Amino acid sequence: METGDSENYTLKRVIFANIVIFVWLVLGIYAIWLVVPFLAVAWGIFLALMFLFVMRKSICTKCRYYDGRCSMGWSWYTSKIFKEGNVEDFPGCFGARFAPFLWMSVSLLPVIVLAISMVFEFSILKAVILVLLILIAYIFGNKKSRKKSCSVCRMNDLCPMGIAMVNEGNEKKA
Ligand code: SF4
Repeated sequence: METGDSENYTLKRVIFANIVIFVWLVLGIYAIWLVVPFLAVAWGIFLALMFLFVMRKSICTKCRYYDGRCSMGWSWYTSKIFKEGNVEDFPGCFGARFAPFLWMSVSLLPVIVLAISMVFEFSILKAVILVLLILIAYIFGNKKSRKKSCSVCRMNDLCPMGIAMVNEGNEKKA
């Protein structure tokens, strides 16, 4: 049975998850680029800073997976550039509070920008990108898969998402 132990997050799974996230972010940047190029550049820089440094320093340094392998592999990456923090500081830290807004923005901003632009200037390319963005956001935001992942994560007693999902009936694991 799957558990939140690092050895259960295979390298293949971690690489696949990161490829999907990368494609999602790049597709979102490209979607905005089609409509407002300078906004796409600013959005790309913001995402790079948040995903590579700010969120890693803020939350991953305080994670129980630090220096191990979490489902995303970001714990291992974080240990190479930032010192370990205190797990008790995880709840309420900037990263833990900001993460839901960051993911919501990643899911919604490109879709909204593209959808509005299609009202004025429709194209097949925009429609295809819009469908892909909605599909990826749906797969990531799907409650069933979220609950499954959160129920086996070793941070599910501290992470707001984990607490919400586990409280909905999943068995919490230590
Ligand atoms: S489980 Fe989440 S918070 Fe912990 S290291 Fe991985 S990505 Fe960061």
